[in-house]
Amino acid sequence: MTAYVALGANLGDALAALRWAAQALAGLPLSRVLRVSSLYKTAPLDTDSGVEVAAPGSDYLNAVAALHTGLSAPALLDALQALELQAGRQRPYRNAPRTLDLDVLLYGSARIDSGRLSVPHPRMAQRAFVLVPLAEIAPQQVSAAQLAAVAHQAIERLGALQPGRAGAD
Ligand code: AMP
Repeated sequence: MTAYVALGANLGDALAALRWAAQALAGLPLSRVLRVSSLYKTAPLDTDSGVEVAAPGSDYLNAVAALHTGLSAPALLDALQALELQAGRQRPYRNAPRTLDLDVLLYGSARIDSGRLSVPHPRMAQRAFVLVPLAEIAPQQVSAAQLAAVAHQAIERLGALQPGRAGAD
């Protein structure tokens, strides 16, 4: 199964957290990293309500990785949450700045709504910081209309997440 995972961080050494996460994804059981997008920088934004509101905290660093995985979707979520914990994430309040956020964006073509896990990720279409890196590594997964809908959100491509590696295989 090909799964797409969003990586984000805006607290502490966000770049180190994302690099660590990309390496850690490669170490998940039954899994192989197919591609990792460039690193992107975005201003913190709360779009959960459908209305964009500036959120507290410093800029986010974001990337998206494609994984080939034999893990079930819930097992993948478990594994990602374990990595978040390992990275020292705390959740003092909703949308708090975080050291590492890992979300399942897509799990093949599965549609899942289990309460604990919603796939495709319900808010991905509102977020340039998801759609732009996803379109970079999987253009077939993002339509031009989706990109146009978030084109007003500022996002800056910073370069390779892991310098010296073209993608990650
Ligand atoms: P967040 O604070 O954004 O990391 O959200 C984490 C919560 O969202 C967890 O309680 C998850 O169970 C839930 N969740 C639902 N769907 C997803 C998904 N596709 N990827 C990651 N977390 C999800």
